[in-house]
Order: sequence, then structure tokens, then C-alpha cells
Amino acid sequence: MYQTKTMEKLEMMECPQCGGPMPVKRRELGYHVCVNCSTVSAKRGIPVMRGTGDHTWVDLEVMTQEQFERYEEMENKTKSEIVPNKTEGRNLQGPFTIVETDN
Ligand SMILES: [Zn+2]
Repeated sequence: MYQTKTMEKLEMMECPQCGGPMPVKRRELGYHVCVNCSTVSAKRGIPVMRGTGDHTWVDLEVMTQEQFERYEEMENKTKSEIVPNKTEGRNLQGPFTIVETDN
């Protein structure tokens, strides 16, 4: 005879940020806010150079964690395309022009 274990009921508490329900377990894991809040508040600032010539300034672009990850992915991809692998790129002659195609 099988005995199904009843799902342990999650003990909930109030999220200190939005007041919504948040599992106590989550705080035990080291989180201080609920899932919603931690996603929303995970913002990253990226320094972005703006302007041209002598008229440049560094702006801080604020993006969400998701956007930041996409941005980093793009950055890494660009870098690895521009800088050829030193051993494998021996036959390549620079400089290179990266051409973006639609297909
Ligand atoms: Zn919250």
C-alpha cells in the first residue's frame, strides 16, 4: 500500500518591498524580497560613451538583468569575432571588416 506524502504547505510571509506573499523558505535561502521584486530590482548600469569628437560624455544606461545578459552576450560575441584566435588565425590578414547580413 502506498502512502502519498501530502505536499508541505509553504509558509508565507509578507514581502518587505511590495507587501505581497513570499515564501519564508525564500528568506531562509538568503533572499530578502519576493520573486517579483528580485526580478524587477535586478538592474545593472552600463557606462555608455555618447557624443562625437571633443563633445563626449559617459552616460549610465540602466538595464534589467535580462537586458544586461543579452548585452554582455552581444559584447562577447563581437569581441570574439573581431579578435582572431592567435593560433588558428595565423593565415588571416587584417584588418577585418565585419559585415552584417540579414540572412
Ligand atoms: Zn515583493
